[in-house]
Amino acid sequence: MIKIEHLVKNYGAHCAVDDISFEVEPGEIVGFLGPNGAGKSTTMNILTGYLSSTSGKASIAGIDILRDPIGAKKLIGYLPEQPPLYLDMTVEEYLNFNYDLKCCKLDRDAHLAEVCETVKIKDVYKKVIRTLSKGYRQRVGIAQALIGKPKVIIFDEPTVGLDPKQIIEIRNLIRGLGKEHTVILSTHILQEVQAVCDRIVIINKGKIVANEKTENISHVVENNRRFNIKIAGPQKDILAMLKNMQGISYAEVLAERDGDAYTYMVESEYGVDIRKKLFYQLAERGWPMIGMEALGMNLEDIFITVVDKSEEVKLGATRNRIKRRARGTEKSALEREVGATLYEDAQRQRNESALTSNAEDEDDE
Ligand code: ADP
Repeated sequence: MIKIEHLVKNYGAHCAVDDISFEVEPGEIVGFLGPNGAGKSTTMNILTGYLSSTSGKASIAGIDILRDPIGAKKLIGYLPEQPPLYLDMTVEEYLNFNYDLKCCKLDRDAHLAEVCETVKIKDVYKKVIRTLSKGYRQRVGIAQALIGKPKVIIFDEPTVGLDPKQIIEIRNLIRGLGKEHTVILSTHILQEVQAVCDRIVIINKGKIVANEKTENISHVVENNRRFNIKIAGPQKDILAMLKNMQGISYAEVLAERDGDAYTYMVESEYGVDIRKKLFYQLAERGWPMIGMEALGMNLEDIFITVVDKSEEVKLGATRNRIKRRARGTEKSALEREVGATLYEDAQRQRNESALTSNAEDEDDE
């Protein structure tokens, strides 16, 4: 449905988009993720016909956006980062205005009613947009993108500036749109793509550094490849045993001591679950396992790993981050490497999840 081929965009001597290619299948929701300055908006602007490319091709349903911009734009609903709202209009006036702008041929009343139902703005239909909350304004922005039933919907940072409840509502709404539309969601919020998207395309410094189904990313996030294991017994012998055990790719002792027990960080080979085998081997030698904590890899680690990889930084950096997390010094490390914004977003998302689960708990009561 969407095809980007060898797209390049130079601003003077600066290459903002550097030979990227990817496709989005009909009905897919794809997250376009990257740190600030990665080239997301430039790509979205080329895709929506707002900017021209230096070279390469972008097409929607086979229609080249440069050769037939009007034909391609008819297939696109776009919600830019700043929703293009006329604050002095009522929602009704604004949606009718957009209906006319798009020369929509669908039955006006029935179509606008359907759009309002989808984004749940019926109760504010007669209100002036200026008086609406940011969450409602965002919904009105989504409504204008839906007018004319475009095949493709493009969202640029759709939840920036919203409160946690509004973020969840907008994400659910976008998720629902995937049933009838092909959606590209540009964001720098890692959890957003995981919550909403079927596939994740990660861009960094104008280049695509990952293009994965979300479930595969989730698998990496959720698998238990790294553990902190507390074992009582002779440190040197235990470490040697861990390092030599089949299925373990990495082991080291962390500087934590609890009586005669030490904590070891162990990394298993991909797809190998070493937990039971390790338990029995330690028991056989009389070295009791006192605790085990799966460290996993969160989305921040994955994000940094793919970005690091693109810059040819060794994977050891991720391992070090995980160690720091285990030692409780994660914040400064993350802040240093991906910048405060990304870290703050991650924190906000964590708070949001906590809020959601609290709300769910309250609902249950
Ligand atoms: P993102 O949306 O991922 O934050 P952008 O596409 O806005 O990234 O920007 C990509 C790069 O191109 C950045 O380095 C940015 O500074 C640069 N850039 C964006 N727009 C312009 C412009 N109009 N003129 C010059 N450089 C620009």
